[in-house]
Amino acid sequence: CGIIARIGQGEAAETLLSGLENLEYRGYDSAGIAVQNGSGVKVHKTSGEVSDLKSSLDTRPHGNMGIGHTRWSTHGPPTDENAHPHTDTAGDVAVVHNGVIDNYDELRTELGEKGHEFESDTDTEVIPHLIDEYLGTVDDTEEAVRRAVDTLDGSYAIAAIVDGEERVYAARKGSPLVLGLDEAEWYLASDVPAFLDHTDEVIYLEDGDLVVLEPDSYRITDLAGNPVDRPVDTVDWDP
Ligand code: GLU
Repeated sequence: CGIIARIGQGEAAETLLSGLENLEYRGYDSAGIAVQNGSGVKVHKTSGEVSDLKSSLDTRPHGNMGIGHTRWSTHGPPTDENAHPHTDTAGDVAVVHNGVIDNYDELRTELGEKGHEFESDTDTEVIPHLIDEYLGTVDDTEEAVRRAVDTLDGSYAIAAIVDGEERVYAARKGSPLVLGLDEAEWYLASDVPAFLDHTDEVIYLEDGDLVVLEPDSYRITDLAGNPVDRPVDTVDWDP
C-alpha cells in the first residue's frame, strides 16, 4: 500500500524505514526493505508493523540505494513470505508493488514452465521473475523492465533494483508514484509524506511513465522509450 525508494550519497536503510513510518497512515499489514551495496541485494521483510521490521534488524543493512514497502494484502495472507520486496529465483532482482496484477495467474504458469520458482502467494512475485526472464533476452535492464511492465495487466506502482546496478527502476499505471528531488538524493514514493523530511521538490508521475534513477541523474520515458518531460513542483505542505 506504500512504496519508498531512495538512491544517493550515504546510507539508504534509515531513510527507507522512516519513509515507511511516514506512510503508515495509509494502512498496512506487512513491511519490508531491500538494499543494494555492490555485494548483493539484501531483503528484510516481515508481517506486522514497521516497528517489528526495525526490531528484527540487529544493524541497518549497508547500501546507498534501496526500496521499501508497506503491504495491504490483496493476493495471499499477510505472512512473512508474502511481504514485499519480492525477488526472482536467484535473488538478483527485487521489486515492491502497490496494486493488483490481473494476469498474474497465467504469467506465473508460463514462468513456472520456464523454471522460475515462486515462494509467495502474491500477484506481485511475477514481476521480478518477468524482469529476470527479459534480462535473458535483451542487453539493457531498462528495456527488460519496460517489457516486463508492458506484459502486466492491472494496476501498479512499482520500484525495482537489480544486483550490481546503481539504479532504481520504477513505473506506474493506476497507482500513485511521486519523485522527490533533493540535492544529493532522489526518492520515489506513493505519497509525498514519505520523503517530505528531506525535500519538497517533486515530480508527480503519470500513468505509463517509466523512471530510471541514478545517483546523479534521472530520466522519465514512456513505455515506447520516448523521453517524457514532467514539471517539477514545490510542495506547499507542513510535514
Ligand atoms: N497485490 C499485492 C499484494 O497483495 C500488493 C498489495 C499492495 O498494494 O500493498 O501483495
